[in-house]
Amino acid sequence: MFLRNTASYQNSNLQICSFLEGPLTPMEQETLNELLVDCLRDIYDAEKQIVKALPKMIKSAENADLKEGLANHLEETKEQVSRLEEAFQALGENAKSKPCKGMRGLLEEGSEVLSDEEPGVMMDLAIVAAAQKVEHYEISAYGTAATIAEKLGNQKVAKLLRKTEEEEKSADSKLTEVAFELYDTEEATEEEEDEEVETVGSGAKNGGGRSSTRK
Ligand code: FE
Ligand code: ZN
Ligand code: FE
Repeated sequence: MFLRNTASYQNSNLQICSFLEGPLTPMEQETLNELLVDCLRDIYDAEKQIVKALPKMIKSAENADLKEGLANHLEETKEQVSRLEEAFQALGENAKSKPCKGMRGLLEEGSEVLSDEEPGVMMDLAIVAAAQKVEHYEISAYGTAATIAEKLGNQKVAKLLRKTEEEEKSADSKLTEVAFELYDTEEATEEEEDEEVETVGSGAKNGGGRSSTRK
């Protein structure tokens, strides 16, 4: 049900500029600049939504590494919001956000899981799955925006965006690690239960039904 995420993002930066070979005309420059500002407004809103959504996920998570990882990423996300404000400033633009429907949808789906599942390994795996969708959105958004900034020759903005992109990638791989850990826990629990079933089945122990090892 929960697939291990093995995708590589090495080449994920959209090659939107391959058709813009050579130096940009002033017209192209202007269009790309508008596109960049638009991307930043989207992701600025997305990051602020994430800052609001993470505390509930942290509260619902049971696994200590998951809790800690999400809590660290919350702090990181707050810095990413400031980093975007720096990028706006470097572009001479007001830090304005534009409602990010994509992130709203991802977070809405994520919060359904929080109300449907009981706390435990399955809930934690569902939180990882939801959080990774968020990270992938961000990796894509920052990768694209950074590529545009580079094409515009704005190294300052490009560097800010690449830095956040790297943080999102590392948040994503940490979530993959937590998922492995959770699968191991889940397998261990299942094995224990199988053993118990065998013992009860052979009629050796207490005749009065088995008690579950699961919380
Ligand atoms: Fe972020
Ligand atoms: Zn968006
Ligand atoms: Fe993130």
